[in-house]
Amino acid sequence: MSSFSNIQLAPVLARAVAEMGYESMTPIQAQAIPVVLSGQDVMGAAQTGTGKTAAFALPLLQRILKHENTSTSPARHPVRALVLLPTRELADQVAQQVKLYAKYSQVRSAVVFGGMDMKPQTLELKKGVEVLVATPGRLLDHIEAKNVVLNQVEYVVLDEADRMLDIGFLPDLQRILSFLPKQRTTLLFSATFSPEIKRLASSYLQNPVTIEVARPNETASTVKQHFYSVLDDDKRRALKHLILKNGITQAFVFVNSKLGCARLARSLEHDGLKTSALHGDKSQDERLKALDAFKSGEVDLLICTDVAARGLDIKDVPAVFNFDVPYNAEDYVHRIGRTGRAGASGLAISFVSPTDTKLIGDIEKLIKTKVDLEALEFDDGFSSRHSRDPSGESRGFREGSDARNRRAPREAFDHSHKSMGASSFGQRSYEKKSAPRDPFFDKPYESSAAPEQLPSWEAADKPTSRSISANIKPKRKVAALFKTETQTPT
Ligand code: AMP
Repeated sequence: MSSFSNIQLAPVLARAVAEMGYESMTPIQAQAIPVVLSGQDVMGAAQTGTGKTAAFALPLLQRILKHENTSTSPARHPVRALVLLPTRELADQVAQQVKLYAKYSQVRSAVVFGGMDMKPQTLELKKGVEVLVATPGRLLDHIEAKNVVLNQVEYVVLDEADRMLDIGFLPDLQRILSFLPKQRTTLLFSATFSPEIKRLASSYLQNPVTIEVARPNETASTVKQHFYSVLDDDKRRALKHLILKNGITQAFVFVNSKLGCARLARSLEHDGLKTSALHGDKSQDERLKALDAFKSGEVDLLICTDVAARGLDIKDVPAVFNFDVPYNAEDYVHRIGRTGRAGASGLAISFVSPTDTKLIGDIEKLIKTKVDLEALEFDDGFSSRHSRDPSGESRGFREGSDARNRRAPREAFDHSHKSMGASSFGQRSYEKKSAPRDPFFDKPYESSAAPEQLPSWEAADKPTSRSISANIKPKRKVAALFKTETQTPT
C-alpha cells in the first residue's frame, strides 16, 4: 500500500486528505497521481469506487496551487482545470469531492449542470473559478452565453468517457475541446476501452500513459452472481422472495426503462417496502433526496435506470438486482459494480426472461463466463422458469405451479407472501399493506420515449445515439409488468 507521504502533497492538500481519513493510496491513485503531476496525458481504465476522483483531482489541484490567490478580481481566477462528466449526479459528486480536497487552499471550484437555473451558476462563473466541473450540454450553454472562457485551461478530465459517448455527447465534447488551448494535459477515464474510446483518445490525447487498475469488463471476484429464469410477470414476486430468502437489507434494483422504474417503485411501495425511484424524469431535488435517503438507510430499495445510477458513489450495497437484463452487456458490469466493493462480498441477481437469450449471450462473452440459469422455486412450490434450448431460442413455460396459481397469479402472490411468514425485510419489519388499487397500473400501456438514453434535462436538444449492439433488437418496453394481476395467464 502506498502512502500519500510518498507523493509529497502540498500541506493544504495533505491536511484535507488526512481529514477525509484516507490512510493509503488506492491502486489508481498510486499509479495516476505521479503521472498527472509530471504533466503527462492519462488514459485510465477505472470504475467509480476505485478512488479515481482523488487520482485526478489531487494532482490537478497540486499543479494549479501555483496560481492560488486571494484577489477578488475574476480575471485572477480563470478556469485552469475542466472536468466533464455525463450526468448531473456524477458532476455534483465529483464537485463535492474537489471542494473537500481544496478546502484549505484558495483554489475555487464550481459545478454547472442542466436542469437548474442558469443564474446562480452564471454568478459563480463570473466571479471566477479555477476548477470547473460540468456536464457538456450546460457547459456549452454557458460558453455560448459568454459566462465562461476556457482559453486558460491547462487540464481537462473526461470522466466516465464511455458513458459520455453512449449518450451521444461526442459532438458536444468535440465542440468544447475546440475551445481549449492545444497545449494542455488531458486525462480520460473510462470503465471500458471500446474502439470508440480508443478513437477519442487518439484524437485528443498526446502519448497518453495507460493506467489500468482492474481489467476492463472484469467483474469483481467478491460478487456472487446468480441468474434466475423468471417470466416477466413473476419478476416482482421473485424480487421479494429473494430479498427475504437472502435477508437482504438494502439493494439497488435496475430496470431498463423510466416507465418500468416508476411502476416498480410504486408497486413495491404499495407492498410496504421503503422504496425510491431514480430515473431521468425525476427532478434534481427528488434525485438527490432519493440518494440521501438510500445512503442514510431510510430507504431499502433504490429502483434505478442505468443513466441515473451510473457511477453513484454508494458503497457497500449488499445486493444488486437486474430486474431487467441490461441492453448493453457493459451496463451489466457497471450495475453489479455497485456491490462487492472494497473486498466486501456482494450479491448480484439477474432475472432472465425468455426474450433475454441474446443479451445473456452478450454478457457471457463480455465477462468470459458461462451463465448458468437457475430455476427459482417459491415457497409455495410454484416455480417460474423458462429454458434456453441449444438453438439459442427461448421457450417460456411454467411448471410446478398449482392450478390456483395458474388461474389467479395475484392470489398466488398474496398467498406466497403470507406463506413466507415474512414480516421482516432484513432487520426491519414490513407488513404488506392491503394495497389499494392504483389506477396507474390499470391504465393501458403508453409507450414512452426510447429506453432511457439521456437524462431528460439534457435530452431536449441533444442527439441520442446510445450504442446498442447491432445484434440486439431493443426489447419491448416492460410497461405491462403487472398486467397478470388483473388478467388470467394464457
Ligand atoms: P471515487 O472512485 O473517486 O468515486 O471514490 C470512491 C470513494 O472512495 C469516495 O467516497 C472517496 O472519498 C473514497 N476514497 C478515495 N480515495 C481513497 C483512499 N485513498 N482511501 C480511502 N477512501 C478513498
